[in-house]
Amino acid sequence: MRVTVIGAGIVGLATAWWLAHDGHAVTVLDEAAEPGSGTSYANGAQLSYSYVAPLAEPGVLSNLPKYLLDRNGPLRFEPRADPAQWAWLLRFIGACNAGAAARGTASLLRLAFASRDALYAMLAQTPMQFDHVRNGKLVVQSSAGAMRAAEAQMRLQATLGCEQQALTAGECLALEPGLASIRDRLTGGILTPSEEVGDCYKLCLELARVLATPEFGTTLLLGTRVERLVVEAGRLRAVRTSKGDHDADLTVLAAGVAARALGRSAGVTVPVLPIRGYSITAPVRASNRGPRHSITDSARKTVYAPLGGALRVAGFAEIGTRGPTPGRVEALARETDAIFPGACDTGSATTWTGLRPATPTSLPVIGPTRIQGLALNAGQGALGFTLAAGSARLLADLVAGRAPVVDPVPFRP
Ligand SMILES: Cc1cc2nc3c(=O)[nH]c(=O)nc-3n(C[C@H](O)[C@H](O)[C@H](O)COP(=O)(O)OP(=O)(O)OC[C@H]3O[C@@H](n4cnc5c(N)ncnc54)[C@H](O)[C@@H]3O)c2cc1C
Repeated sequence: MRVTVIGAGIVGLATAWWLAHDGHAVTVLDEAAEPGSGTSYANGAQLSYSYVAPLAEPGVLSNLPKYLLDRNGPLRFEPRADPAQWAWLLRFIGACNAGAAARGTASLLRLAFASRDALYAMLAQTPMQFDHVRNGKLVVQSSAGAMRAAEAQMRLQATLGCEQQALTAGECLALEPGLASIRDRLTGGILTPSEEVGDCYKLCLELARVLATPEFGTTLLLGTRVERLVVEAGRLRAVRTSKGDHDADLTVLAAGVAARALGRSAGVTVPVLPIRGYSITAPVRASNRGPRHSITDSARKTVYAPLGGALRVAGFAEIGTRGPTPGRVEALARETDAIFPGACDTGSATTWTGLRPATPTSLPVIGPTRIQGLALNAGQGALGFTLAAGSARLLADLVAGRAPVVDPVPFRP
């Protein structure tokens, strides 16, 4: 089959890998000059297979006033006169209940584990270098209540196949002496030895390299902006681009936050809203003062990942902000210096902001749409690096008509 994939981020490129692997003739379109230069560029670097619980959970609603009022908090919501934002929020609020959160966690965990297997299968066939290590993840807590909630989630996840252990504050410090600066507020942590980190942008470049080899024979058309999708009589007729029309037997929309507008041009609702986040990447100066594992500071909602010779620090979630909020990357640098003093050179850090393509339930939308010849693979939100390989594998299974790697129903567009 001739397949067009729109988007050369981690989701689109992984999709191209699995479809080309199945023998399809794949063309990937992206408006950018380089693969991986959208949200996949400098994310938190976590392959966080055991931390996939949806953002919508019962506790969020009681904190909503705080998110509206606290302009400097880790989560921020700015209401806008945008019907799509309100439709998204209503669905999000509808998903803020224990039942939906537990079902969402179970579906996402299955997709995450399939994703780990899919990534390992890809690497076994086509080795790719992207600073990929399994260094484990330690999520530290700063109040007794937060630690109890984390232990309850750990017990739930144990029933779903996760291997995690609760550590006391002392055990956290023994494992990560660099955390001594937050000794006073540390109440414990959850350790997940199987978690991994990697450089998502480097993996995108490696995927583009592999896809261009004769074994995969994929065409990558960069600098090609998709203007809209042309539908006739319920069938996708063409992908209209800045360089002319493309027709294919199947088009997969994997354009991250742009999937909503492009889907709309075909009359398909893609329930994706951008959630802005920020990162800094600072060269490591004294590795003995920095983290060995990937660390999440749960109270501050900040992640720290040792990546190559640097520390990648990511955080903040903003809905509805019109552009980057001043002071965010400086705040990440200050937090880094406070939690791991002297570990890295935050003064010469590179900084970045990106938009998570988030659905109200945190479940991505994967599979065929009601428009013949159009499929979606979008909405991986805060977990696109983690979920990309499994999402791509699931889409390829559905296209091939073989037994899907996970139950596709929760992810149906
Ligand atoms: C601060 C931050 C930290 C994060 N940390 C993590 C993490 O630690 N672990 C994790 O798993 N995930 C993380 N994420 C989420 C992850 O980065 C995203 O889910 C993932 O990158 C989305 O990939 P994508 O391919 O869907 O989108 P993108 O990478 O944005 O790719 C979409 C592509 O579509 C192209 N495109 C868009 N419109 C058009 C058009 N009209 N025509 C042609 N091309 C178009 C864009 O140029 C882009 O290349 C984080 C995100 C942020 C913002």
